[in-house]
Amino acid sequence: MKKIDRRTFNNKIVKGVVAAALMGGMPLACGMGAASKKKKLGYALVGLGSYSEYQLAPSLAEAEHCYLAGIVTGTPEKEKIWMDKYDIPKENVYNYENFDAIAKNSDIDIVYVVLPNSMHAEFCIRAAKAGKHVVCEKPMAINVDECNAIIAACDDAGVKLGMGYRLQSEPYTNELKRFVREKTFGKVRYITAEMGYYSGSNPDQWRLNKALSGGGALGNMGVYAIQAAIYGTGENPISVTAQEYSTRPEYFKDTDETIMAQFEFPSGAVGNIMTSHNISMNRVHASCEKGWYALDPGSNYGPLAGETSKGKIEFPHERQQKLQMDDFVQHIQVGAPNRAPGEMGLRDMMIMEAIYTSIAEGGKKVLMDLAPGFGFEG
Ligand code: NAD
Repeated sequence: MKKIDRRTFNNKIVKGVVAAALMGGMPLACGMGAASKKKKLGYALVGLGSYSEYQLAPSLAEAEHCYLAGIVTGTPEKEKIWMDKYDIPKENVYNYENFDAIAKNSDIDIVYVVLPNSMHAEFCIRAAKAGKHVVCEKPMAINVDECNAIIAACDDAGVKLGMGYRLQSEPYTNELKRFVREKTFGKVRYITAEMGYYSGSNPDQWRLNKALSGGGALGNMGVYAIQAAIYGTGENPISVTAQEYSTRPEYFKDTDETIMAQFEFPSGAVGNIMTSHNISMNRVHASCEKGWYALDPGSNYGPLAGETSKGKIEFPHERQQKLQMDDFVQHIQVGAPNRAPGEMGLRDMMIMEAIYTSIAEGGKKVLMDLAPGFGFEG
């Protein structure tokens, strides 16, 4: 297994930032002429659960540069329903066992892994070995070693790797990144990001089973809070201090319920994130030298809502997943920036592991050595 060292990590991240800076805050429209001459790329969804059914498949039906070309499912009853609904030919339908035969299928350009988190690494690596570009849902995997293995497999196969970080293609989120880049409100001094939901009363769901999920709220909604703290400041944290709270231990037997974590950033900014499977919350707020900006809601399927010390911000709503999947095709076809590269998923997993380490050590400060200067695509 090839391990990514800090230098490789930094180089890849820096390239992403340079590409993003060249694009400025522009939507990925430049180069559209070239892209429009190319065919739509075919996605295959692996795992036909609720996210695939209610978000990704309808978004692919609306996408400009891609379409739903195939499915991979472990549930035979779903095959005909999906074939009929999305006009998918039988030869583009796979199960978990015969999945590797997808290598010979020229209709499928991109494999999108939408399975429980512990299955991400296996299917991303098998997809890369089949020569397909890969999109991996969040969290990238269940530990840093698996993230490294996914990145190495895609590098070895010469295929592109993107994370399912839909907000990286979302206009309100990109407006926050513009505020950071242009210092519209001066330097950020304090950022808070609170993302969670009440997970109800179904103890049998895979998200509460550590072997399948890798963790609880942190790997689920906590990823959005970590991401928001980073794109809201334009910096990676240099230290993490964290606490865990459990108010329903009889229900959250195997996974974390509520976590708070504090970050220090290289500029001197500080941050606080909160995530939970027991509390519904969904906002990000940055206090800056010359004002503030906030999204509330800041991470749901939209439309998001934004406000600043100078007034409201407003954008028309489009499906975030459509923007995300089209952006990834633009990355493949015309070299547009990869808005959510695998290294970003790896970085977030490193931060999650630091948070768990801090909690295990009684809230001790854990120092982080991530790419300095990593910025606006964060
Ligand atoms: P889900 O429970 O609705 O679907 C899971 C799918 O995996 C089902 O089709 C199920 O049959 C299949 N599966 C295969 N083996 C399984 C097993 N051993 N146990 C349970 N299911 C198994 O989950 P979902 O909400 O669609 O989430 C799938 C992935 O997508 C997760 O990684 C999740 O974090 C991610 N997700 C991302 C977003 C986002 O906004 N980016 C939103 C929802 C989910």
